[in-house]
Amino acid sequence: MALARTAYVDGRWVDQAQHFEVRDPFDRAVIAEVTDSSDELVDAAVDAAARAFPAWRTRPGPERGKLLGQLAQRMLADERRLAELCTRENGKPTAEAAAEVRYAASFLTWFAGEAERIYGETIPATHPGQRLTVVREPVGPCALITPWNFPYAMLTRKLGAALAAGCTLVAKPAEQTPLGALALAELCHEVGIPAGVVNVVPSADGARTGSRLIGAPQIRKVSFTGSTAVGRLILRSCADDIKRVSLELGGNAPFVVFGDADLEAALRGAMVAKFRNTGQSCVAANRFILEAPIADAFTQALVAAVGKLKVGRGSDDGVDVGPVIDDASVAKLGKLVGDAIARGARLLHGAPPAGTSHVVAPIVLAGVTPDMAIWREEIFGPVVTLRTAADEADAIAQANDTDAGLVAYFYTRDGARQARVAEALEAGMIGINEGLVSTAQAPFGGVKHSGLGREGSRHGIEDYTNLKYMATRG
Ligand code: NAD
Repeated sequence: MALARTAYVDGRWVDQAQHFEVRDPFDRAVIAEVTDSSDELVDAAVDAAARAFPAWRTRPGPERGKLLGQLAQRMLADERRLAELCTRENGKPTAEAAAEVRYAASFLTWFAGEAERIYGETIPATHPGQRLTVVREPVGPCALITPWNFPYAMLTRKLGAALAAGCTLVAKPAEQTPLGALALAELCHEVGIPAGVVNVVPSADGARTGSRLIGAPQIRKVSFTGSTAVGRLILRSCADDIKRVSLELGGNAPFVVFGDADLEAALRGAMVAKFRNTGQSCVAANRFILEAPIADAFTQALVAAVGKLKVGRGSDDGVDVGPVIDDASVAKLGKLVGDAIARGARLLHGAPPAGTSHVVAPIVLAGVTPDMAIWREEIFGPVVTLRTAADEADAIAQANDTDAGLVAYFYTRDGARQARVAEALEAGMIGINEGLVSTAQAPFGGVKHSGLGREGSRHGIEDYTNLKYMATRG
């Protein structure tokens, strides 16, 4: 199968005069020249989604679900090719890329089932002869805007719910990784999802194309995954037209290890929570908070484990940590680590990134303080920051001392403490002796500045539907 490089609009592959380069993050080699969708093409994609909506919404849910199920199967059958493509454009190790393909397909499978279960309700009436009923209707054509860190999964988590609900869509993938979304569009085409139901408009300029898409009057809902700064802009842009908005934004996850924790389990969880996708994950452990009695033992074990990680090209055997995505990421990591060291943090492993290589060897910093930018901002790279906490109350206070509230992790063997701390933590998702919370069956999303709405689970479909209530007499 050839690599799809052009926009996908109204069931056709559309090339245009302007193109942009997609580069391998490992060595910056150009891997594709992709159509840079013009504003007119974005408008055409929105028109196509609007034209396709009436037929798609009235197609029976089980039929929509059947197509989603076939799409999941096609993804899984193509796991190897899709994983290799993901490693090339995103840089992640091939095993992780394959895991992402399976994770992405799991949302399609999940929502294939949910398409049969978009239930309404009947309500006991207030007057004799009256019937009160509620149905769920699709909101309409949706704009789906996705980031580069999970090019397949961030899209299928939205696309699966949208299509199951009966919505049509225009997707705008991140400029660094448009190829995954285009590969998915090919599979949509192959399984027979009708023209106009799914459209993909790659673009070199996310702000320009994103704004055009969001501003289109036919778009009734925007679902965005990305940074909090852009999420804020999108929420404002949707205000005039009162568009539905779902926002999956940045995190700043605490990872607390209490004195009574199983340290081996905590270490295993820490390595996954920190280093999956080279630390470039919204649910990455950003701030390690260690209760004093185990702080030294856990730190030593962590530094030893980090020392064994193999860093390099994602397609090479045995590589655990791939390159970071681009020059801006290297510069940001250099700045955060340099600032922390200048303010007194101790370097226990690695060195501040120097030069322009995207391959950043893991770094461990101890003695980090709350005034450091590396503690307050989302790091988005392979850097561990460590602080100690005097006791449970101190650990909770430190964990909650952030504007973000996506996920929080903690390790303890004490059942009562598990309940107490889980209730006290300000986050949409909590990992208790668990370093990986993401799964299609559970509601993914945050509180505070980490977003609005939930994706995955039975709740994920709610954001793509409106309730319609009917009062009938006679
Ligand atoms: P980003 O906000 O820079 O870009 C995300 C998407 O928005 C891209 O497609 C981009 O082209 C587009 N965009 C940029 N400016 C826009 C504008 N003005 N209007 C409309 N669209 C615009 O984020 P990123 O660097 O690609 O991704 C990293 C961020 O995403 C991190 O903060 C991470 O935590 C977050 N993220 C969150 C989740 C979650 O589920 N909560 C999942 C993955 C990533």
